[in-house]
Amino acid sequence: MTRPSHALIDLAALQSNYRLADSLSKQASATAQTLAVVKANAYGHGAAAVAAALEPLAPVLAVACCDEAVALREAGIVKPLLLLEGILSDDEIALCVARNFWPMISDVRQVDALLAAPLERPLTTWIKVDTGMHRLGIQPAELATQYLRLRDSGKADNIVVATHFASADELDNPFTTTQIARLAAVAGRLKIPLSMANSPALLAWAAARAEWNRPGFMLYGNSPFDQPHAIADRLQPVMTFRSQVMALRQLAAGEAVGYGETWRAQRPSLIATIPVGYGDGYPRTAANGTPVLINGQPGLLAGRVSMDLITVDVTDCGPVQVGDGVELWGRHLAVNEVSRWAATSPYELLTRLPGRLRRVYRE
Ligand SMILES: *Cc1c(COP(=O)(O)O)cnc(C)c1O
Repeated sequence: MTRPSHALIDLAALQSNYRLADSLSKQASATAQTLAVVKANAYGHGAAAVAAALEPLAPVLAVACCDEAVALREAGIVKPLLLLEGILSDDEIALCVARNFWPMISDVRQVDALLAAPLERPLTTWIKVDTGMHRLGIQPAELATQYLRLRDSGKADNIVVATHFASADELDNPFTTTQIARLAAVAGRLKIPLSMANSPALLAWAAARAEWNRPGFMLYGNSPFDQPHAIADRLQPVMTFRSQVMALRQLAAGEAVGYGETWRAQRPSLIATIPVGYGDGYPRTAANGTPVLINGQPGLLAGRVSMDLITVDVTDCGPVQVGDGVELWGRHLAVNEVSRWAATSPYELLTRLPGRLRRVYRE
């Protein structure tokens, strides 16, 4: 017997979301390209299967680091792999050349290392500029110098200049426009292809769409915004996190459920126990009342999330039996809603799903 809890991954929805992202890129220019970000195990969806499904569509896939890129090569992925965190040590430069990884280099020390490296052929290199996120990236005033050093060295080719937005998911925050202007001010006259947009920028900031766009989260079918958005709301959730009712019990008013007795029945209540918990990636911070779909009907999380189990008040869900279907999030219950109840971000809920949770892929 397999445990019924699993993440059902709809690869056709993934491909359709990619096509939507790519159509937004192409609104900037017919030659604009959309790479697919599959870092962090493809935001929890399983990097090898997701990359294999996107490889026929996307010209390039992006991961955070060399380790993730090597794992994709081992899984048979052959498209170029952009390393969003660049190179963390000099010996990774040879690996990049050998395996067609494209580093996004983000400081002058990395430029120096690339220029000093004995390379058999030039390495496709992206340069990250810090326009206001202030985590990584060379200073805007350094761009022209470092770009010319790289270009004239013969060690780098197909250079792209990139930046990353701090607040593109905030639709009325003008800082995205500020960041775009800061990049244009230093990159415009160099006539180099640009890459700026993550998912929220690709969806909502037309001026951020450039020759290369870098959506991640939206490919998995959820909106990066916490308000309605006409295009984002057309995305199709790729993951449906499912389980089954394992046990049922009737509680008298006044009885409590679970560790710490944090939920107490106000009336005679029917409680369903589901074999899923924080050990499967369901957030322990989910509050009493978090919706859980039972046969498509909204039950209410009742009591603390345990490692392997949750308990749900299904009193108002109609007839419920052991074995009935449960949706924790996905097609009919947005992960964004669950993340609000858990006081975290949907990015985190998806990304930290552990290996224990079975992924089932549907073409
Ligand atoms: C993760 C990441 C992205 C993708 O961001 P989403 O919000 O998931 O679309 C793009 N660019 C960089 C540099 C990233 O680290």
